[in-house]
Amino acid sequence: TMEIEELQQPWKTDFYWELPKVELHAHLNGSISSNTMKKLIAKKPDLKIHNQMTMIDQGKKRTLEECFQMFQTIHQLTSSPEDILMVTKDVIKEFADDGVKYLELRSTPRRENATGMTKKIYVESILEGIKQSKQENLDIDVRYLMAIDRRGGPSVAKETVKLAEEFFHSTEGIVLGLDLSGDPTKIAPKAKKEASASPKAEAKAKALKAKFYVPEIPNQNKETQILLDLLPDRIGHGTFLNSCDLVDFVRQHQIPLELCLTSNIKSQTVPSYVQHHFGFWYSIGHPSVICTDDKGVFATHLSQEYQLAAETFNLTQSQVWDLSYKSINYIFASDNTRSELRKKWNYLKPKVLHF
Ligand code: 5GP
Repeated sequence: TMEIEELQQPWKTDFYWELPKVELHAHLNGSISSNTMKKLIAKKPDLKIHNQMTMIDQGKKRTLEECFQMFQTIHQLTSSPEDILMVTKDVIKEFADDGVKYLELRSTPRRENATGMTKKIYVESILEGIKQSKQENLDIDVRYLMAIDRRGGPSVAKETVKLAEEFFHSTEGIVLGLDLSGDPTKIAPKAKKEASASPKAEAKAKALKAKFYVPEIPNQNKETQILLDLLPDRIGHGTFLNSCDLVDFVRQHQIPLELCLTSNIKSQTVPSYVQHHFGFWYSIGHPSVICTDDKGVFATHLSQEYQLAAETFNLTQSQVWDLSYKSINYIFASDNTRSELRKKWNYLKPKVLHF
């Protein structure tokens, strides 16, 4: 069966798979593979959900709204702590199998009344999954970013920041920061204030590196600027950094971008691979990291995303190598982790680069 599997996984052939990689933008519930999805569906046949409702096949597209509906469907399948544990372990294993050496997994703490899962239990289940994966000696370092759902408003933001603080102190660097996803114009300033306005403000502000999504909705330049003024440590997508002012600001502050090609094309926020803004940011040498976003929903792998970027924008193997190596600069973990990763990359370099 190994042979058949290899054949069905053409991205696994070579360089892109062997390339050591860093994944900085992956939503847990969007990263569930169809294998894992089958297990979840089998556990809950009454929901009458099938695989096609949770992923977008090759060549297919959806609207952003339809994508969000898919997440609602997926959430029905991951409603218990056991589900979250399984999904976390499977996703980590799959990233490791794809050559990812360092992973920042993000996920929104979710309460499910039907199963009695609290937000705290949700987070604990993810952390348990990370712990168990570590015990299996997979060659991957996994961290967790707590995501804040825009729909919850300021009160949920506040609650999540509190939860993050709690875990930040007890997990020794596994919980690294916050991800303000969706349309964060209202909650972002508040959350950032929350994160830095208490007694241990300085340590916390440093510790809870707040992350921001720039919304994938056009014509929000003013709001985007408000957001950027908070100086996020990284920006997800950057799809609508569409005015000179915004671009200049991001360049001036050298804010790294997490770029997700297939995600943007399948959710129709970018019309085609050649028109993807990776081309622009790469050409000016701006800090850019290739990411999957939702490898399950968008049916992709990080190695495949690297390959797509390379083939679309004519990158050489050594340029691809540098792209991956530089992404180590933008992780949220400590300098110590950064130098460990660089060592690993340098050790692998002669084995991976064939000239
Ligand atoms: P979870 O946080 O439940 O583990 O992962 C699914 C969630 O990630 C979605 O409900 C949504 O909030 C967020 N998400 C995943 N992909 C995208 C995306 O492309 N854009 C935005 N704005 N949010 C996303």
